[in-house]
Amino acid sequence: MEYKGYEPIVGLELHVELKTELKAFCTCSAEFGGEINTKCCPVCLGKGGVPVFNTEAHERGIAAALALGCKVAETSYFDRKHYVSRDLPKGYQITQYYTPLAQNGSVTVCVNGEEKTVAVERIQLEEDAGRIVRRGDGEVIDFNRCGIPLIEIITAPCIRSGDEAEAVVEEIRRRLLFAGVSDCKMNEGSLRCDVNVSVRPVGSDAFGARCEIKNIGSVDGVGRAIAHETERQTELLLQGGTVAVETRRFDEKSGTTVRMRDKETAADYGYVRERDLPPLVTDGETVERVRLAMPASYAVREKLLLTAGVSEQNTSVILSSVESADYFGRVMEQDVPVPGAANLFVSEVYPSWDSRPDEEAFAQCVKLFASGEVTVVSVRELIKLSAETGGSPRAIAEKRGMLTIRDEEVIASLVREAAEACTGAVEDVRRGKDAAKKVLVGYVMRHSRGRADPASVNKAVDRYFEK
Ligand SMILES: [Zn+2]
Repeated sequence: MEYKGYEPIVGLELHVELKTELKAFCTCSAEFGGEINTKCCPVCLGKGGVPVFNTEAHERGIAAALALGCKVAETSYFDRKHYVSRDLPKGYQITQYYTPLAQNGSVTVCVNGEEKTVAVERIQLEEDAGRIVRRGDGEVIDFNRCGIPLIEIITAPCIRSGDEAEAVVEEIRRRLLFAGVSDCKMNEGSLRCDVNVSVRPVGSDAFGARCEIKNIGSVDGVGRAIAHETERQTELLLQGGTVAVETRRFDEKSGTTVRMRDKETAADYGYVRERDLPPLVTDGETVERVRLAMPASYAVREKLLLTAGVSEQNTSVILSSVESADYFGRVMEQDVPVPGAANLFVSEVYPSWDSRPDEEAFAQCVKLFASGEVTVVSVRELIKLSAETGGSPRAIAEKRGMLTIRDEEVIASLVREAAEACTGAVEDVRRGKDAAKKVLVGYVMRHSRGRADPASVNKAVDRYFEK
């Protein structure tokens, strides 16, 4: 990405809430939402009590490290990061500044046909702060989020465009989602993205003054924020100005960034070792145990689907959540024609996810359709009915007369009925307008409620006129 001879230098900092039952250092529930200030205790509010790091958060952190190809440190340490904020009751956040959980990973993305590998410099464990919530005209602070376990993922500043940044965020999101680390919902704040941007003349090796853009709420926002910031900083420099080192926020509506404050330096935070917590030991056995328990990755599942002949578009729909990927995986185990199952999944099951048939019933519907026992019209209805009634699709199809009509006599009599009803079309065909046969076929299909086998109907119509 180039703007008036300048290019952006971009590094990402992602904050990801770990999917755990409990908060990081106490036994409060980590569940999202709920009545404000009902999931708090003295430990997460900093009013006393000793923090104890939860094994579950530790294991999710290790899974994240493995998913991003990082090396996990045998011993890491917790530190206190001090700052003043209304949503930080302790006055400091527990994080890992000096020796993080994991380092030296990478992700590879493909942008405009070019592969790019971006280094993941470090993953540190930390706790979330509270949340300021609008209530009527005023604001309240919800401390339920205080102490929810997070990881912060820091990439090297080697990203050179908004498109690359978006691809990296998306790739990290997919990997963490399919590693069971987090639900990675940007709209609920379980994945938040800060972007560091500076610009320099293309070809230069220097690093310019950088701005940090905080808490961008969507993948698309990441690219737009970088594009805007590149233009803003370049224009400043071209006009002989300098870029202030500051923290900015991105306004989704206007697509611009707005100054919040000067950027803090490490010294501002007064980092000190968290003496209430022992060093965090991660032995090789634990890492292996976590590795073995990790579900199949996005990449593995994607390859499996593409190899089975599923289109790229259907693959991305199936893999848009772990739930739908798992569901389709169980359908595949039932010996169905996979590309056909994917088509029906994407058109009939995925759009009404909350009222879907179970995997076995759906697989049966796919088989009935593949063998021609039900038509495409009937299979759609059958999928819906199996979901509603929970019954066996074959039994439903038999009971409701939904099986495809192939009986020559039955179809011939439907064609005769059509010919009596559509005399105009019959005349047209007799005068040589073959296309008018479609009218009769359409009549039969409608009157059989889509159950007549289309090929048999076409043949029967031809035969009718041969007489
Ligand atoms: Zn608590």
